[in-house]
Amino acid sequence: MKKTINILFILAHLSCNTPQHSATGTGNTNQGFPVIDETSILILGTTQDAGSPQAGCKKDCCKNLFLHPDISRKVVALGLIDPGNKKTYIIEATPDIGFQIKNLQQHTYFSTKEIPDGIFITHAHIGHYSGLMYLGREAMNTDRIPVYVMPRMKGFLENNGPWSQLADKNNISLQALQDGRVVKLTSNLTVKPFLVPHRDEYSETAGYIIEGPAKKVLFIPDIDKWEKWNTSITNAIAAVDYAFIDATFYDGEEISNRNIAEIPHPFVIESMALFKDLPGVEKNKIYFIHFNHTNPLLDPNSAQTKKVLKMGFHIARMNQVLKL
Ligand SMILES: [Zn+2]
Ligand SMILES: [Zn+2]
Ligand SMILES: [Zn+2]
Repeated sequence: MKKTINILFILAHLSCNTPQHSATGTGNTNQGFPVIDETSILILGTTQDAGSPQAGCKKDCCKNLFLHPDISRKVVALGLIDPGNKKTYIIEATPDIGFQIKNLQQHTYFSTKEIPDGIFITHAHIGHYSGLMYLGREAMNTDRIPVYVMPRMKGFLENNGPWSQLADKNNISLQALQDGRVVKLTSNLTVKPFLVPHRDEYSETAGYIIEGPAKKVLFIPDIDKWEKWNTSITNAIAAVDYAFIDATFYDGEEISNRNIAEIPHPFVIESMALFKDLPGVEKNKIYFIHFNHTNPLLDPNSAQTKKVLKMGFHIARMNQVLKL
């Protein structure tokens, strides 16, 4: 058992991908993990809702991963750490939340608690909220953890089991967000939600702007084509320092060359075409995230990965740290 833990520990470190914009720590560690000592974002997951490997997939993208999982493949989520105020938050409650809140806690020096100080959710698709189930009586049985959601999402959780039980039993405390209204979390952190177009069966879909003492981050894990949004994505990127954006599919090959114009996500090749004439400083802000199991950007050595990086963009990887 101990040997397994050691191997996992080593793998966790090998998977650390320190980007250009990493926080410089004091060298302090918590249980061996590097400690984040400035207000920062920690990438806790990068895949599309259904993860990698995806249930039922028999293709090359997943066939070896059932027996040999890649522990750096977790469903999309961001951790927020404010060491000055000794607070942590997580954006998205994914099916991997257990691993992710542990990872968040292990990157802090101040926190012995296992549960962050709040959870923000973008929308009611499985990868983004179903992790709430681990807060209930069968699992952590949390006490009034604040869960920040837009109005329709709030109604969805309040009116449908099993989520309604979390509210009824005070495992969670739902906090209503409003489009464009800033939430001040601490003296170092604010979060502003905004609406984006997406398949909104059960809830609206939010993106977030997270602002720290010096930097702003745009987070849009799921959106329909950029043209469908009433905001220009290039203007939105110009207004921030980092932008984590929907990269569900790389190109049409992943979907058997179906017409990519009909698939309601901006393909990476479409986004890169849209951004190709931006100055380097703007391209350098862009981090692709929310990769479908078929997406070649999940493989750090793929030709597509190399192309994206060569063009001046970034690819989000688990355990990246961006100082805010
Ligand atoms: Zn999603
Ligand atoms: Zn697959
Ligand atoms: Zn979605």
